[in-house]
Amino acid sequence: MSPIAHSGVALLGWQVMATRKNIKSLGLYLLIANLPDIDFILRLIFGPKRISIHQYFTHNLLFVVATSALLSLFLPRSRDRWGLLLVGLSHLAVDIFVIDLIRPIGIRPFFPFSRVLFNFGFFPYLERGRFQTAISTRNLLVLGLEAAVFVLPVLVLFGTKILRDVKSRAFWTA
Ligand SMILES: [Zn+2]
Repeated sequence: MSPIAHSGVALLGWQVMATRKNIKSLGLYLLIANLPDIDFILRLIFGPKRISIHQYFTHNLLFVVATSALLSLFLPRSRDRWGLLLVGLSHLAVDIFVIDLIRPIGIRPFFPFSRVLFNFGFFPYLERGRFQTAISTRNLLVLGLEAAVFVLPVLVLFGTKILRDVKSRAFWTA
């Protein structure tokens, strides 16, 4: 899924789990939620190499546990550590339900111990590739659907609270 869906889950995790609602914790929750998609950036940098294969090396439990442990160094309270881990795991959980047409299809949660791929795709996918495809009406509808499912409920539930948090002076002091 796109950063819209993953960031919606991050916002929920941040509201529920973060012990201090400041810009640092928000940034870390957003980062861990989107980090497995670093394979897209690797692909832009290195091209279609082994390291940048779609969802191949970064969409697994080991990657999520290792990266959330690393980011936990910046948020030492145990509640935040759990929050980061759960939000990191949510990336895998959400991606499993997206229709995947790019080989290898699905994600490998148990890599490197098992190479079994999992995909129970029913949620519409974003078409990537050329610029024209990326900004198609279809993709805009998919992004709208992601926002409706993953962001809107969080804003309905916590919108006023989030606004109050962001407006507070404590938010801007790390
Ligand atoms: Zn992903």
